[in-house]
Amino acid sequence: MKILETHTRHILAFGLLILTWVMIGVFLIYTNAYQSIYDRSLSLTNSAEEQHQQIQLLQKKCGTFYCYTGDEFINLYETFITSRNQHAHQNTSITGNLFVDEYLRNIAEERGYIKRMSVDPSLLVEYNNLLILPEVRNAYLNLRNKASEEGISIHLVSAFRTFEDQRKLFISQLSVADIELIPTGIYDDEINRVLSVTALPGYSKHHEGHTLDFACGDDYLVFEFKDTDCYTWMSQNNYEVIKRFGFIPSYPQDVEKQGPSPEAWEYVYIDREMMR
Ligand SMILES: [Zn+2]
Repeated sequence: MKILETHTRHILAFGLLILTWVMIGVFLIYTNAYQSIYDRSLSLTNSAEEQHQQIQLLQKKCGTFYCYTGDEFINLYETFITSRNQHAHQNTSITGNLFVDEYLRNIAEERGYIKRMSVDPSLLVEYNNLLILPEVRNAYLNLRNKASEEGISIHLVSAFRTFEDQRKLFISQLSVADIELIPTGIYDDEINRVLSVTALPGYSKHHEGHTLDFACGDDYLVFEFKDTDCYTWMSQNNYEVIKRFGFIPSYPQDVEKQGPSPEAWEYVYIDREMMR
């Protein structure tokens, strides 16, 4: 009897031990599951919080004005310029061959170039051998003077251009042996090389009268503008200093398919009231 009791006690103790381990297991599984649910709900909270932070970031001020993305700069200019009363656009001859011209326009439009209208030329005034709108000239002079006060030397190298000015500029840069062969596609790389820096006639923002190209110091090469102290000065804090004078970048750095590659030297003058 005594032997049996001892045996039963052993079985009971063993059973209790098993039960304890099972309970520990259940507890661990439960707490683990709970932890992962907790983690998931926490990550949901995080992403909602992140979204809120992103919205706040979009409305972030860069000094006096809101910070704009490249696309927002583009939209500001397009909204501004379409509100202006301008001459209707007509396709202008590029090479003299209608098929070649159509081919070139297709490549340009695929890159994101938009047909542009010309400002009324009677509104333009002459300044340093350039044609410019008086309000754009005044804004430029104010900007140049502000820069000069800070030891920065900015020059104006291009302002208004006619369709014919742009045609000559484009053709002078295009190195093609036989223009008639352009629609075969053999010169596509060369055409894209030129279009990455120069618009076709009828597609340049310079026609619209609010676009300026800048150079810096003794360097009159616009293609090097991005590496100058002028650009560093102008572009800091989301272009805060030039916004004060009504200028924004024309082809900003972080936008694809806008026609040319980003152009650090080109700026557009818009209504300052549009910038908050
Ligand atoms: Zn330009």
